[in-house]
Amino acid sequence: MTTRVFRIENIEDDGGQIEAAAEIIRRGGTVAIPTETVYGLGANGLDAEAVKRIFIAKGRPQDNPLILHVAEESWIERYCEDVPSEAYILTKKFWPGPLTLILKRKDVVPDVTTAGLPTVGMRCPKHPITIKLIKAAGVPIAAPSANISGRPSTTSFKHVFQDMDGKIDAIIDGGDCAVGLESTIIDLTEKPPRLLRPGGVTLEQLEAVLGEIRVDKAVWRLMDKGEKPKAPGMKYRHYAPKAPVTVVCGYPERAAQYIKEHASEKTGILCFDEYAFMFDKLTTRTFGSSTDLKTQAERLFDALRGFDDTDVTEIFAQCPKDDGLGLAVANRLKKAAGFNIVDLGGD
Ligand code: AMP
Ligand code: MG
Repeated sequence: MTTRVFRIENIEDDGGQIEAAAEIIRRGGTVAIPTETVYGLGANGLDAEAVKRIFIAKGRPQDNPLILHVAEESWIERYCEDVPSEAYILTKKFWPGPLTLILKRKDVVPDVTTAGLPTVGMRCPKHPITIKLIKAAGVPIAAPSANISGRPSTTSFKHVFQDMDGKIDAIIDGGDCAVGLESTIIDLTEKPPRLLRPGGVTLEQLEAVLGEIRVDKAVWRLMDKGEKPKAPGMKYRHYAPKAPVTVVCGYPERAAQYIKEHASEKTGILCFDEYAFMFDKLTTRTFGSSTDLKTQAERLFDALRGFDDTDVTEIFAQCPKDDGLGLAVANRLKKAAGFNIVDLGGD
């Protein structure tokens, strides 16, 4: 199939491009959409056939549920029931933004969207083009990240094009994603609520509003055999470049030293900016200063993908502490490594 590219310079005067993309969505097609977290691969979330096309384009396992992207808070009631008051406390504070709420779904949401779960993920993205598109389409857009399943999520038009050209109907080029990591996911069908995935809205921010929150085990480690994850999709390896990754946790100086001692010629190094000088003979990618978590989040997936254009056979990565946005950055790195972690302590 030929993939159309929409490039919208001026949202007020887009030459009918957003309406054309909305028409593709309404007719059951697939459109990659820019959001503030990562690019999404969108289709009408109420149309089972359209949603199936997302799974096919990505090669995504059918038991991995999708998030419904809506234009505003008032849309929650169309697709969810028994909505607890915490949901509105959170939407008032964090929507539009990188926060997905897991709520009890209504029957209008098809099984294929939620992988048969009685719940559905709801999010209102903070991106003017995508909000306008959802409103124009008049339906919620189901969208996982716009990457081939298992690979790092896409945070730029270039990466979406690499993974999806020829497989979907259209891509909207909205520039680079501001946050760079997928949304925080919180399950409000449990008491206390449970953090299923850390992201741009931090655990500390959520606790300040809601009080106690449980952190799902899947945030910290791989599921044991026979252990049942909250959402089936949480068991999959994610975000992985082609070469295997080892994450080295601990004081940055100590981690850099460890990596230097264990690296060989074909080792790729993913490190904080200030340690790159230690690896000048090796293939090195940096993802921000050790103290700048926002930049780390923004650049992580781009840096991981960068190794696929090289001949490295293994990757060693430095890792931030689990505080604030560091929890989300560390979680994605550890998942990219299949939780293959060297912990030098020192936190
Ligand atoms: P992605 O869109 O690729 O970022 O993945 C969406 C993720 O959201 C899934 O892999 C699940 O971990 C999570 N998710 C979506 N819907 C639900 C749900 N109803 N219950 C629990 N987790 C969900
Ligand atoms: Mg994904």
